[in-house]
Amino acid sequence: MSTNTRIDVAETELRELEQALAVQGHPRFHARQIYRWVYKRGLTDFSQMTDLSRAVRAQLAERWLISTPEVVRQERSQDGTTKFLLRLADGKHIESVFIPDTPAMTFCVSTQVGCAMKCAFCLTGRMGFERNLTAGEIAGQVRVLARELGMLETRFNIVLMGMGEPLHNYDATMKALRMLADEHGLALSPRRMTLSTVGVLPALERLASEPLMPNLAISLHGTTEDQRDLLVPINRKYGLKELLDACRRFPLARRERITFEYVLLKDVNDTPDDARRLVRLLHGIKGKVNLLPLNEAAGIPFERPADDRVNAFARLLADRGITVSVRRSRGRDIRAACGQLITESSGRAPGVRLAMLMGGAP
Ligand code: SAH
Repeated sequence: MSTNTRIDVAETELRELEQALAVQGHPRFHARQIYRWVYKRGLTDFSQMTDLSRAVRAQLAERWLISTPEVVRQERSQDGTTKFLLRLADGKHIESVFIPDTPAMTFCVSTQVGCAMKCAFCLTGRMGFERNLTAGEIAGQVRVLARELGMLETRFNIVLMGMGEPLHNYDATMKALRMLADEHGLALSPRRMTLSTVGVLPALERLASEPLMPNLAISLHGTTEDQRDLLVPINRKYGLKELLDACRRFPLARRERITFEYVLLKDVNDTPDDARRLVRLLHGIKGKVNLLPLNEAAGIPFERPADDRVNAFARLLADRGITVSVRRSRGRDIRAACGQLITESSGRAPGVRLAMLMGGAP
């Protein structure tokens, strides 16, 4: 590392920051001070870090930076859910969502611009994949939301359920979680983090041996290989059976369980037979089921089942001893609900993008 390397604090774990400071002739303990300012106070400007000398502040301001996503728009739903449209350094946009009292306060964070997984019912999948987020961009969403919502001192959870597939961007995702967990920064407990994935198997195996272990949620959505092939295309590569075997092997603490997410699509995967197959599939796995009645959207060729159908599905699972919850959809009036996050790629007008999604010409 040369002495004039431009360090981006947002992309740097505490230990790396200590090294960078040492290389540039500064005391290592400044790293903790900087982390505290950035993560606990929401600062993005070295000049305000008043426990550093003026000379150090001036030098850092000249040589280093703290990249931070810029808030372009905030939309607040009737139920308090707030969707943030954020602009990244290269002009691309992502969305992050604040969901109050579920019962905890929750930030729903993106890991990619768009998504490559193309799940048949998900609007983000329709966008296609644009790029991975960096660790700093992932953790930066949390910094920005906590600052904007005045929640730097409040406990909250994060779920990696925004745009993108976290295990398709493994290194940046795990680095972001380590930065957020650092005791000198936000000190977010891994128990307050949930990683949701379609099940990219090699990455799931890697996750199984991580020192920092978030809660795991698996997007299951189908109960036979054929059905899941259609709904979650990566199933053709990493099938249901292998995925569930990996879940059986996944290390869990004593009272922990894997959450299985199951989107309910009318007349597609919501029958009593599906529910019974689901019970059989989960046999021997420490898991619980979270049912997600489809959030409908223009361009998504499925319907949401009626409430009595959803309830019957849930009851069948519960009667067979499975812990089941039904996700109340939040923020639908501002398109902040699951699978509804989508940003327009730069240069295309929103209307054009929407027309494309609905099957029109670009
Ligand atoms: N890429 C991650 C996070 C996705 S969002 C994953 O696939 O797990 C979190 C959940 O919302 C996933 O289970 C996803 O399949 C689901 N979802 C996507 N679109 C949806 C929709 N239109 N209605 C309801 N749930 C949806």
